[in-house]
Amino acid sequence: MRRALVLGLLLAAAGFAAGYEKIIVAESAHPAIRSAARILARNLGLAAEAIQEVTGTPAPAAGTIVLTSAPGPATRQLKHDGYAIVFRNGGATINGTRPRSLLYAAGDAHLWKDRTAGTLVRDPSFAVRAVPNRRQTPVAETVALLGVNTVISGRAPVVSLRRTLPEVFNLLSEADQRRLEQQEKFSAQESARFVQECHDADVTCYTDMPYGNNFSRWSAPLYEAALKAYPTAKGTPATTSWEKAALCPSDEGTWKLFDAYVRELAEQSQTDGLYATFWDQFGIYCQCDRCKRNGLNQFPNELYLQIKHYNDVLSSMGKRLMLRTWSSGSPHWLNGEWVHAPGQDGFGGLGDELWARVIKELPASITLQTKVYSTDCEPDARFNTLLGKGKPHTELVEYQVTGQTVGRFYFPASTVDYMASTMKKAFALIGPENGSEIGPGGTGQSNYSPYDDILNSINVYAWRELTWDVSADVNRIWIDWAAQIYDRQAAPHVIRALRLSEEATNRTFSPLGLGTATSSTFANDIAWRESLLKYTNRYFQPEYARFLEPTKANIQRLVEEKTACAAKIDEMFRELELARPHLTREQAGELATRFDWLKEYFIVNRALDESLWRFRYLRYLNSMLTSDPEQMKYLAQAFDMVQEHQKRLFQYGPAQKFSCYDRPLRPASDQAGAGQSAAAHEGTV
Ligand SMILES: [Zn+2]
Repeated sequence: MRRALVLGLLLAAAGFAAGYEKIIVAESAHPAIRSAARILARNLGLAAEAIQEVTGTPAPAAGTIVLTSAPGPATRQLKHDGYAIVFRNGGATINGTRPRSLLYAAGDAHLWKDRTAGTLVRDPSFAVRAVPNRRQTPVAETVALLGVNTVISGRAPVVSLRRTLPEVFNLLSEADQRRLEQQEKFSAQESARFVQECHDADVTCYTDMPYGNNFSRWSAPLYEAALKAYPTAKGTPATTSWEKAALCPSDEGTWKLFDAYVRELAEQSQTDGLYATFWDQFGIYCQCDRCKRNGLNQFPNELYLQIKHYNDVLSSMGKRLMLRTWSSGSPHWLNGEWVHAPGQDGFGGLGDELWARVIKELPASITLQTKVYSTDCEPDARFNTLLGKGKPHTELVEYQVTGQTVGRFYFPASTVDYMASTMKKAFALIGPENGSEIGPGGTGQSNYSPYDDILNSINVYAWRELTWDVSADVNRIWIDWAAQIYDRQAAPHVIRALRLSEEATNRTFSPLGLGTATSSTFANDIAWRESLLKYTNRYFQPEYARFLEPTKANIQRLVEEKTACAAKIDEMFRELELARPHLTREQAGELATRFDWLKEYFIVNRALDESLWRFRYLRYLNSMLTSDPEQMKYLAQAFDMVQEHQKRLFQYGPAQKFSCYDRPLRPASDQAGAGQSAAAHEGTV
């Protein structure tokens, strides 16, 4: 997105734009405004010398843009941290409500650079827009690009407990003590740099705590030492439960440990608050006699007490807590363990029951972030029923735009229509004083940039536009996005192809609306595939559970769905052909390759899904001591199809460059055992 934007604007600056030549900021301007001037200059194709610093109040003149956070004639209309631009006499004055508002205006340059008259007012729909900081991009750039005002550091500083809990620290081995102290010092310096960068960009910053609340995973040596200091703190896990009990919530030692850890973490990180995730690594699901007696063997009470402790420590330090509510798909078996997935419907109960005590009994200053997906990262997931039930807390609707559900973004995989409809719905439920969070990236992919991807950067761009205007015209979003990357004649065809990709990828991965691997891989065996089918809250709805009944009608239903999906993919290729004469050679090569990846993946997955439905049907008939030999013909055909097409998965030219990767993919010959494909790029399931 960025590179193409610069190119487009260089062309624009060559004579087609309004002709802005100078950017003026006050000498005493906030660092965020200076960064905005630099980003704006680059986005307008101007040299750094085009930025002028002046003393006193900068005045607009023809060909100049003035950046200021002083109130202007149109800023009274702004409710949040937006900006207003007054275009007059060939010049423009941008007034922001905050220094960071100028960063937003700089990031939006493509929307207003050609204007010469009138007033443009842009104010975000949501008060809070948040993003994790991946450190690929400087904070100010991220703020300009995404229009966010809250940044979450993904690197939690190391904690030694030396100052807060010496009785635990002293039980560490000398080597561990030395190592932790060194790491502590280094990570505190790194945090200080991050906090400075956030303050310079005028944004709020949080630190992501170590994932989950399982202390044994946060720090193995500290956990070991803690159990020596407080032996009764050890939890008693349930048998065959995915949720663990590293510590017992009924034990005083447990809370000494958590309180101390959180205090040191908050001190070390120096951010405005901490950000905690509650799923996957839940570590206090204790079933000891004490917990059974006092009710702390139950999720709602455990969550309440854990979050109360986090928040008490943080609020005593003048810091805040943001938490991510449970998201683990729906309850299911995983490798012999029961994933409880509380609050995720079905046997897991309702979200508002799970979070009732946290919502009602804990301070409103705690922010609740909830994934928009009722089932974690499933394609076209149902809307999460917890959203809108968190008042008086600030609620954020989370979008995990990591490509997990849609092919990790190898494929053309728009989620724009889903995002537009759910964002509007979320806004109606939670309101303008709340917000949204986005996690952009490519799960399991190294060197992937969601901003430079000439296909899927649309998902990030759409989030940015929709959080600023939940009622934005989706067509307009597509056109504004494409204009930054593609030739005018190619753009409509690329847009049409990508809009088709949303349904095509959903149907490629999610058979009849049911579940799939969240990492978009092929399931290795039938048992795993069958458990994935139920890894979706739709499974609990009678009309969807019906699709799993072993009947010929359901096989036919699946065949029809896949046939319609194949037609959509064919149509995408037709649009690509229409765009091709107007694409650059690299664009055409990349689009053709990645469209082909989708097509081949679809062919293999279709054969596997259809065969699974046939197998389930035959298995059922077998239990009735009968059979349907005709099905074997289709299974044999599917087998041949997979044999043939698995060789064609993820092909690419050895010298090929992709917009989304900052280096060439490894040549096939380097990928021992992975076949001639890019599949070796994938991480774990
Ligand atoms: Zn217990």
